[in-house]
Amino acid sequence: MDSPVTAGRLRNTSVVVATLDSSEVYIIVSLSSRTDTQAVYIDPTSGALVHDKKLGYDVFHTQDEALNYITDDSKLVCKTILYAKAILGYVVLGSTALLLVATKLDASIPYLPGGGCVYTVSESKWIKILLQNPQQQGKGEVKSIQELTELEIDGKHYFCETRDITRPFPSRFSLQNPDDEFVWNGWLSFAFRRIGLEQHCVILLQGFANYRTFGSLGQQEGNVALIARRSRLHPGTRYLARGLNSCYSTGNEIECEQLVWVPKRSGENVPFNVYIWRRGTIPMWWGAELKMTAAEAAIYVSDRDPYKGSARYYQRLTKRYDTRKNKTGLVPIVCVNLLRIGEGKSENILVQHFEESLNHIRSTGQLPDTRIHLIHYDWHTSVRLKGEQQTIEGLWYHLKAPTISIGISEGDYQHSRMHMDDCEGEKIYNDDISGFFCLRALQNGVIRYNCADSLDRTNAASYFGALQVFTEQCRRLGILLDNDAVYDHNTRKQSFSDKSWKRFDMTFEEFKRSTVLSPVCHLAELFLISGDIHATLYTGSKAMHSHILSIFSDEAAKAKQFSVAQNMKINLQRRYNNAVTDSSRHKQLEMFLGLRLFKHLPSVSIQPLHVLSRRFSFLLKPIASIDQHPDDGDSLLSFKQKNLIWISQQAADIIQLFIYLGEPCHVCQLLLTTSHGADDSTYPSTVDVRTGRDLDVLKLVLEGASIPRCPNGTNIMIPIPGAISDEDMNLKTRASLHAPQTNPSFLYDFEGVEGEMDFLTRVVVLTFYPAESTSSPVTLGEVEILGISLPWRDIFASEGPGLKLWERVTTSNNNNTNSFPSKTGSNPDVFGLTNDVLPPAKCDTSRNPQVDLLSGEDINSRSDSQPMTEISLLDPSLDTCHDRKEDNGSQRVSVHDKTPTKTSAQHYISCFEILTALDNRLGFAEAMKLEIERLRLNLSTAERDKALSSIGINPARVNPNIIIEESDINSLCKAANTLAMLGQTSLEDKITGCIGLDPLDDKNDMDFWNINRIGEGCCGESCQIHAEPLTLTLTSTSISSPESTFICSGCKRRVCRVCCAGKGAMLLRNNTGGSSNNDADGVICKLCCQDSILDALTLDYVRVLISQLRNSQAEAVAFKAFAQVVGKNYGKKESFNKYEANKALDLLLRDDEESLAEFPFGSYLHSIESASGSAPPLSLLASLDSGLQQSYWRAPASTSCVELVIVLGNLSDVSGVVLLVSPCGYSISDAPNVQIWTSNNIHKEERSCVGKWDVRSLITSSPELCGPEKSDKEGQTPRHIRFDFRNTVRCRLIWVKLSIQKVVTSSVSFGKDFNLLSFDEDPLSGLGRRASIGGTSETDPCVHAKRILVVGCPVRADIGRSFQHASSVKNWLEKAPLLNRYKVPVDSEKLIDNDLVLEQSISPSSPLSAGFRLDGFSAIKPQLTHSPYSDVNPLDASSYVFEHRFISPAVLHIQVSALQGLPEEMVVVAEYRIPEVKGGTATYFDFPKAISSKKMYFRLVGDVNGFADDPEDGGDTGRPLAAGLCLLNRIKLYYYAHPSDLGRWASLSGI
Ligand SMILES: [Zn+2]
Ligand SMILES: [Zn+2]
Repeated sequence: MDSPVTAGRLRNTSVVVATLDSSEVYIIVSLSSRTDTQAVYIDPTSGALVHDKKLGYDVFHTQDEALNYITDDSKLVCKTILYAKAILGYVVLGSTALLLVATKLDASIPYLPGGGCVYTVSESKWIKILLQNPQQQGKGEVKSIQELTELEIDGKHYFCETRDITRPFPSRFSLQNPDDEFVWNGWLSFAFRRIGLEQHCVILLQGFANYRTFGSLGQQEGNVALIARRSRLHPGTRYLARGLNSCYSTGNEIECEQLVWVPKRSGENVPFNVYIWRRGTIPMWWGAELKMTAAEAAIYVSDRDPYKGSARYYQRLTKRYDTRKNKTGLVPIVCVNLLRIGEGKSENILVQHFEESLNHIRSTGQLPDTRIHLIHYDWHTSVRLKGEQQTIEGLWYHLKAPTISIGISEGDYQHSRMHMDDCEGEKIYNDDISGFFCLRALQNGVIRYNCADSLDRTNAASYFGALQVFTEQCRRLGILLDNDAVYDHNTRKQSFSDKSWKRFDMTFEEFKRSTVLSPVCHLAELFLISGDIHATLYTGSKAMHSHILSIFSDEAAKAKQFSVAQNMKINLQRRYNNAVTDSSRHKQLEMFLGLRLFKHLPSVSIQPLHVLSRRFSFLLKPIASIDQHPDDGDSLLSFKQKNLIWISQQAADIIQLFIYLGEPCHVCQLLLTTSHGADDSTYPSTVDVRTGRDLDVLKLVLEGASIPRCPNGTNIMIPIPGAISDEDMNLKTRASLHAPQTNPSFLYDFEGVEGEMDFLTRVVVLTFYPAESTSSPVTLGEVEILGISLPWRDIFASEGPGLKLWERVTTSNNNNTNSFPSKTGSNPDVFGLTNDVLPPAKCDTSRNPQVDLLSGEDINSRSDSQPMTEISLLDPSLDTCHDRKEDNGSQRVSVHDKTPTKTSAQHYISCFEILTALDNRLGFAEAMKLEIERLRLNLSTAERDKALSSIGINPARVNPNIIIEESDINSLCKAANTLAMLGQTSLEDKITGCIGLDPLDDKNDMDFWNINRIGEGCCGESCQIHAEPLTLTLTSTSISSPESTFICSGCKRRVCRVCCAGKGAMLLRNNTGGSSNNDADGVICKLCCQDSILDALTLDYVRVLISQLRNSQAEAVAFKAFAQVVGKNYGKKESFNKYEANKALDLLLRDDEESLAEFPFGSYLHSIESASGSAPPLSLLASLDSGLQQSYWRAPASTSCVELVIVLGNLSDVSGVVLLVSPCGYSISDAPNVQIWTSNNIHKEERSCVGKWDVRSLITSSPELCGPEKSDKEGQTPRHIRFDFRNTVRCRLIWVKLSIQKVVTSSVSFGKDFNLLSFDEDPLSGLGRRASIGGTSETDPCVHAKRILVVGCPVRADIGRSFQHASSVKNWLEKAPLLNRYKVPVDSEKLIDNDLVLEQSISPSSPLSAGFRLDGFSAIKPQLTHSPYSDVNPLDASSYVFEHRFISPAVLHIQVSALQGLPEEMVVVAEYRIPEVKGGTATYFDFPKAISSKKMYFRLVGDVNGFADDPEDGGDTGRPLAAGLCLLNRIKLYYYAHPSDLGRWASLSGI
């Protein structure tokens, strides 16, 4: 579908953002590089971009066609329509989505040599879309989002739609492969890349790009373009981003490019040349402190390791500007330092250190290929002493040699690739250009200018340097800049005028006299504007001292006068900006780049959930409403009916919705929109949720979840955990889960029960229960199911995140390893004998235990007799596909699947015994160690509790949450949270720092936590610390190997690995010490490290292990889902590529037909049994190119009849069914009878038969269907049988019954079929059977097929129209309730028990309480809960991560108790699972019955540690509980009464 047009663009890119009346937003894009138009839908709940690349649905021929479609031929009204020229970014930030578009563009370089226009964004607009979900966002977050939208874009950003301009011209790379150092919207453009529309969001650069055309006396015209790209590696403003950062880049770092070419008519070759230089602050650690009193800021150089990373900086430059032939010689980097040198000058310290830093680098020999040369040229002093002209001359003198030696790149663009071989030099071509570039000369190395800020002096000096090159560039292109006068009056010597670089030798006056000045002034103009832009971006004000750039123009004198006043003004402005807005602008830049989001937007999800109940989902069973509504309840799933009030026909005990999701997913949330009339009691009060892959196995995942009464239209989010296995449930008697004495887990979830996951969930059944008190009809509003779906389309297309998952699967499959936490402990022989104390992240994969990815089981631990070869993967007992029943019960793939190996539990017990051997009481540190051991052993909490109970130990005894001193909880949590932030910061920097560089080898680095295992001790002699002596006697003790010793940066003593604190300790120590931030290297011994820091590391490590375990479980489930769709050898993707698959599909489909049941949209209603070794049933519906070519699906041999109930992806007009024949072909014995029915719902009796076919009779006439497939079938139509319907049938479900006649006596011998049957999937079992006696079940004919395609046209779903209830219904809705809620007066209330309990005292005269009102909490759920455990950034949008907040959601309950009876005792009245609503929303919970009590207790239970305060409103509350969860003033008791009974008091105490 992609049709890049390389030349002769017919249209400009056009973007239309249409907002419908329903608040739904569509982005309609017609790219200049394509001829069609795409419509992208923004999901109004999740903000996810939705685009399926389907012609007629979201791909159109024209923009008007697209607009017509989304407005249903203008029947729907557009609230607003915004026209734009380009998309610059899109991002979802919690409940806000931001779309950044350019509304006005300036074609600042209209036509580069070889084509391509550079546009500068002259006007942009942020479109804010408020999403309809109740995600809580803090005030600080809202403010941060607002600040992001205030970032200056206009005039300072540019892009090219067709060419890569992030690299020196001409780029060797294609547009879609830019250099990340100069891409500013990488994060913002990710949403478009994720949906496969990478070209729809441009690649945005920051800085300046413009050009000028100039004439010359030689009549040859020339073009000069100046492109200045700002590096994004050290973003920020003047006083915050100076010198180096930990990404090895400097503040205000810019690459400049001066491109000169001769304009030519199209079809002619274009000669050009290009010169590159660099500017930036000095590459070492330094800064400046602003003092309000002093005129100048005080400059300081970091006292610790100020040159750390300097070498890496020059390495990056070397890599970029290295064009050496055969890599011989050196790459020159010439630094022109323009600082003041004189004694007493504040800049002098920088000059000295600059020099010292280069000596340091030279001494380390880290840059073998680079020659760094430093030129000092004190610009200001020279101007003051010698004047401007001599200063310029002096500069030229210094620059001459380096400029000439570095040279320029030159060549030409040739229109046709016909004569490529004639080109002498480097040839550059790619898909973005039609011809090619021939480069005859290349610039090698670079000149780098700096002053203090890399602003004013730098801009001036680099102009005069570039000016010399410019005149040379013109000369080489035959553009004569030599002034007539000089040319004529001298002796007309050609030799003089042709001398290269001749102007370097001229004085200023000579230069001025001999040169045509108008081109020079044009160039100066470009530098002036560019200088102002960079100055503004860095300091918020224009450049100073720039009058010198006009020195060649007539108005030079005037400019100078004006300049003095101007400089004064700018200086003041800069001071102001620095003091007031710098930090805010710094934050803006970070957010724009997607950095430090965990700080600026702590609750925002990187990968929001998808709404899977919208679009293609439908209700399997119609539910009848009171209205004569035609859609049988389907409107409950449609956003267009957001304001709908659906009303049941009569009072009902339950209302059940059978929802078939549009795509398979793991279900995470239920989102309800409260909907009722004047009486809010008609909305249901509780809901049960069941989920399953099909109708056959539905698991109860949520029972009796409370739905409070809420104002109409309130969004209520109910988190859905995974199903808890019966085993886990039984292991833990969780009936008393929230007994009042339960201690809160402030540190981490000690009890954590992990739910099962299933990414193939398709059916969700909601059972709503009305409140017992009502007997009226039930009302419902919109219902949404949110979940995580795997990127199936990407997976099949091997693109984007899907490709990443593929790679993950493939490598894991091949290596038989994965990144599970080290499970060596499960093997008793390994325990205590190895030095393998590395945490999982740093583990050498080869040392990891072998893990079967299909089952997630540790192969080592499974069976000792099983050899660890690939064969074990093919063991039929591991087959994930053949046995549905077994499979359904074992979704979870951890050790939880199997009965826990005795060894793990025993191990745990022996650890417990070791730790309690000396002192029976377990301390906090020991308890944490024990938990770490448990997690490393992969023992679930339930298994732990069981193991402990078996030796008569109460699990509470080992619970660190209880053991810890209460007074320590807060500081420990805080330290651990800080550590998490520092760890994430350091990872982000590490990743950014790698841009443009080879990754550092940090194998010998200290690990982040360095938590020792139980029994591990100091190595002895070579260690001077002995922090961990070998007091514990274990049969086999682990000793750290002596060779790995470090030097403690505290006490400077030698220390072994065991006695070191983890690397995180240095981060935390530096952070609290407030020292400079470049000292993350080095280690510290445990004696020098505070205990609180060590504890924080331990806590963080526990959190990391829990998260890692969950992640590996989720990953294993994802891999398993793969296996169940494409077969288990999914890792070996065959060469049958997408292109061929599309072609094959085209051959199978007739005009206008589509494949309607293709996975993931199509699926089954019921489970299907397969033979052992068969391809999975879902493979029948998978795309043609997935799975192995030779594999196919087979029914069990005992089955002679199979009924497949296929659910189509959409309501469709079906014209037939195509069956792709298995590679083995059909024979008379296994050719099936085929019968097909269609229907719109699951009631079998309502289906209608559309035909019956006998394939046996067919194969006699079509012998090609028989026997094994010939291998050379490329380009041919795949073997298939088409069952045409007489007329098209509109339906959603298709029954396909395949039946064969069983031969009673089997006398079939092994034939070719047999070999094929067993060829691919199951060679081992095949071999086995071959050896066994003939006539086994395998030789029986069975039902089999390769693929089933349902073909026809999808029908467009009816777009919901506004709908009116009948007047009687309206009246019923508007009827006020009989009773209203009134406030029960409360005497006093106070918080007790860690602020988790609210005690209310009620005066005895008060009325009975009927329930309580709870105002929505204002705490947020932070995204970052622990430090990262691998080099993959978990907060990077492009990585495929499973967010634990969704998989194991934090859920709060509120438990209400009352003082009752005689003698008085506390009685639990009720417990409610609290759904999430927006902060402050009033929610009303009725008690089971009205109660009277003088004291009421409201206790918050559940995952309180999953919540935190927004940094903006939180601060240090001195308590572990988030202030936003505080119950004070949040709860009000109420009673029901008739308004007239209360008289005038009614209005006062209404609630
Ligand atoms: Zn030691
Ligand atoms: Zn020390």
